[in-house]
Amino acid sequence: MIFFKYPQLKLEFEGLSEIEKRLVRPELLKLLYFLEGYCTYNFNKSIIITELLRSRESQDRYYRNNPAYEQNPWQSPHQFGCAADIRSAVFEPEEIDDIIAIVNRWFPYDNSGKSSAIYHDIGKGAHIHLQVKPE
Ligand SMILES: [Zn+2]
Repeated sequence: MIFFKYPQLKLEFEGLSEIEKRLVRPELLKLLYFLEGYCTYNFNKSIIITELLRSRESQDRYYRNNPAYEQNPWQSPHQFGCAADIRSAVFEPEEIDDIIAIVNRWFPYDNSGKSSAIYHDIGKGAHIHLQVKPE
């Protein structure tokens, strides 16, 4: 199953809600449906989406205390409908490793060495960040 941290995310996932004229990219949906199937098949676990689209205002809020961001603000793939965050607390550490490896294997970001799946913490708690390349 796919669960959502709050109802707005379900609308974004279903393409029924946009933020700053952006919808979730179909390539990202494909990755999420893959991951849901993978986690059900291998771990008998659901995935919980904690963030999809992000406004400029939210981006500024996340990095509010970051001097590098203040100096030269960067945009997140969440602002382009190209990223999703997945709750990692429901998975064992080895399951997280497995998820990161399998997504990067089946959904390579591009040839630049960037990853499509990352386990990280940008200040709102550790989570799995998934991304596809913006057009
Ligand atoms: Zn993210």
